Amino acid sequence: MNVEDFRKYGKEVIDYICQYSSNIEERDVAPTLDPGYLKKLLPADAPQSPESFKDVLEDFEQKIMPGVVHWNHPKFFAYFPSGNSFPSVLGDMLSSAIGSIGFSWASCPAAAELETIVMNWYAKALGLPKAFISDAPGSTGGGALQGSASECVLVSLITARARAINELKGQTTVHDSVFLPNLIAYASREAHSCVEKATKMALVKLRIIDADVHGRMRVDLLKQAIQNDVNAGLTPFFVVATVGTTGGCAFDDITGIGQVCRQVSSIWLHVDGAYAGNSFILPEMRVFSAGLEYADSFNTNPNKLLLTNFDASALWVRDVMILKSALNVNPLYLRHEHMSGVDYRHYGIPLSRRFRALKLWFVFRIYGVMGLQEYIRNHMALAKKFEMLVRKDDRFEVRNDVHLGLVCFRMRTVDEPNHTLLAMINHSGKMHMTPAKFNGRYVIRFCVTYEHACEKDILDAWSQIKSFAEEILRDNQLEIRSAPASPEAERTSSEPAAPVAGKPPIKKKLTRTKSLRFSFTRSISREQYQNQSEHLGDGATPIFVVDPKTLQQNFQKAAEENERVNNIKNGTTANSNTKLKDISDVDTDEASN
Ligand code: PLP
Repeated sequence: MNVEDFRKYGKEVIDYICQYSSNIEERDVAPTLDPGYLKKLLPADAPQSPESFKDVLEDFEQKIMPGVVHWNHPKFFAYFPSGNSFPSVLGDMLSSAIGSIGFSWASCPAAAELETIVMNWYAKALGLPKAFISDAPGSTGGGALQGSASECVLVSLITARARAINELKGQTTVHDSVFLPNLIAYASREAHSCVEKATKMALVKLRIIDADVHGRMRVDLLKQAIQNDVNAGLTPFFVVATVGTTGGCAFDDITGIGQVCRQVSSIWLHVDGAYAGNSFILPEMRVFSAGLEYADSFNTNPNKLLLTNFDASALWVRDVMILKSALNVNPLYLRHEHMSGVDYRHYGIPLSRRFRALKLWFVFRIYGVMGLQEYIRNHMALAKKFEMLVRKDDRFEVRNDVHLGLVCFRMRTVDEPNHTLLAMINHSGKMHMTPAKFNGRYVIRFCVTYEHACEKDILDAWSQIKSFAEEILRDNQLEIRSAPASPEAERTSSEPAAPVAGKPPIKKKLTRTKSLRFSFTRSISREQYQNQSEHLGDGATPIFVVDPKTLQQNFQKAAEENERVNNIKNGTTANSNTKLKDISDVDTDEASN
């Protein structure tokens, strides 16, 4: 494609995007398709000869678009916002067009320097402690853009692990892996599943701390757990606090957690603010950022609540040297004559990095801090509006404290009608929402996500939700439970009684059955999440250097043992040909999101 072609087709694509954005409401917010829909529409092999741009764009509309979930739709209330905005898309276009791979200052000085500048703008706009701002006097900290919050958590954990191992190791020459079984991390049961994933990848133990009725980590339990683990000879090294949990947008008490962490020198406190961390751009939300001065690292995703399209996650650390030394490798082919400039390759997992700072720079410049504040305040006001509508209707309840854009609601009845309600909402194609388990209870998450969301979107959605609920209640003659006496009473009570005796069960069975297949993992089981207030996920397997043959034998032994246990459970006879099931087939935790 030459420049003239690009100019022509580029304009067509921009026209297409404008048309799409203007008429998005004419589309269903999400498709109801079965997996494999696209395989039936596209050839199995790539074309041998070039095809025309016109054909490709037509196929995009006719074959790809029907399988798209429209995250920028005014009736998309699922997950968290995707952060798309036109200024950000334009910034990203330039980044794609330039195509510079900015891993070091030398590989793209503008990318390196703009990232530093924008990360400092961002930190200052959020009111972060000076320790995270690289141009603040005396600061040893700074930030870098990463691909996702999961990466930010993993990078922080790896850094904390390196620091803890260095402390344990002292001057000895023992291999680092010897210390792995000692290391233990902590997060609340409401923390995002990426924390569990990070501990799995890093082969360290994870202890899940119970949350209070508001979904906040129990600081007293954290303190007790750390104490017990120290007494048991373990080394607590990493605590994750969350500001804006995925299930219910709860804000952990960072000050309380930070004070506990300060008592053990080896602990690194990471604060995950993937969604809600961005709300600290509002002075009135900074009541929830109090205590960040205790944090060693903090992340937030502008691609959730700062109108910056995916991917863009910001990670700040208090001490850049610790981060860099944990991840530093320095082959000759990456060295250059300006090593005093910042080389962001030392700040994360990949070597190659997109010029992400460009889109964030566009966003800050085109909206200004005030424009971004206005956008978030609008989401907050609309969420409050929705909360008020739900609370005014006795058949429903709101389960979370609504501080930002997320409202977790349910009908005051058993779970199954609520599953049905969510299924009806999503099958309608007119709205899209997701479920969660918040504070031990199934909820439907209603999150304001659309950039230009307005009251009409909220009122329309509520009116549709109510009519679906009325249909469910009427068809199944369900009784509505009265409100619990107190949140504590509610929390300790078991699942409310089933529909009134003699009443027909809910007809629409819309939830998927869980896989009962064995998971070859030593991490946290669903039962542990559900049944225990505090438990240990042991992902720690000491890595001793073994020859491949021994590894294979051990794996085989584990496979046979797994099969034996399964056969006993299922009462079936042994079948030596049965293979271990793929971990990806196993639903490990319904509590995580
Ligand atoms: N942390 C929290 C609190 C989240 O809500 C999410 C996702 O919603 C994540 C981490 C994971 O984010 P990412 O998809 O950027 O890895």
